[in-house]
Amino acid sequence: MSDRLLVMGWHNVAGTFGFPAGEGEAERGFASQMKTLARFGNVLPLNEALGRLAAGESLPSRAVAITFDDGYRDNLTLAVPVLERLGLPATFFLVPELLSGKIDAWWETIGWALSASSTGRLSWEGMTFTFDASDWQTVYSPVVRRLKRKSRAAREEAMAELLEMLSPEGDPPDLFMNWDGARELARRGFSVESHTRSHVVLSEETPQEQLRELVEGRAQLESELGTSISAIAYPQGGPLDYNAETLTATAAAGYTWGLTTHEGFTTSATSPLEIRRCVIYPERGIVDLAAQLRYMLTARIRRLRQ
Ligand SMILES: [Zn+2]
Repeated sequence: MSDRLLVMGWHNVAGTFGFPAGEGEAERGFASQMKTLARFGNVLPLNEALGRLAAGESLPSRAVAITFDDGYRDNLTLAVPVLERLGLPATFFLVPELLSGKIDAWWETIGWALSASSTGRLSWEGMTFTFDASDWQTVYSPVVRRLKRKSRAAREEAMAELLEMLSPEGDPPDLFMNWDGARELARRGFSVESHTRSHVVLSEETPQEQLRELVEGRAQLESELGTSISAIAYPQGGPLDYNAETLTATAAAGYTWGLTTHEGFTTSATSPLEIRRCVIYPERGIVDLAAQLRYMLTARIRRLRQ
């Protein structure tokens, strides 16, 4: 028995423009990650595990919770069959405005636009890149790093400017599930929780806007799915991506749990609004799982020695 929970977070399963992978590599990696967790871990539903920790109850040793952010359609077509075959519970953090098609996932759109552009050159925010179809991925990271630090309004403006300069050919990819997909997840017994109304970076918005994103995200999921929503995964989830106002707004919006992407174990001492979670990449297979575990165990040993 233990009081440690390891919450792990995935996004897509198959490779995408934003998260590229070789043919079939991410699907195989994901399947081997799930088999490893089924065999060596004790996978619990997230809410149950967090509830037990909060109540001071112990968890089985090697307790793990599986989560997915953003609502990629392949969560339904590729992840769910693997999870069901292995009997693993999982929680999906979804975004109402992505589900209803009101917004696009800018981090995928910019990847597609770079890959489908034949301009060969991009000058933006003081940076200049020359690139072609073979090396557009080198431009992706510096551009995305800037876009991640913008409010919704500023990012929409920047994206419009970037798309105009890149003038990509063809149509952007359609990678996300809709409301029927979300209902299908719930019908098959998986948990659905909130990832804000429109995937804003909360720290970049005003306190009022943060509250609106948190309240409306929760309300729309509850009314469309007929389930109760108690957890939020803060978009991007890092230390710069949410702030003290976010925590106040999260509690005011009625959430019990807030999930970050700070790596580490969640214990009974962890703040319920700053649950720790490590992001796992499917294309890295079990190497990534093992690296995360080793990192956290050695961090724990270092702490014990101090
Ligand atoms: Zn996200």
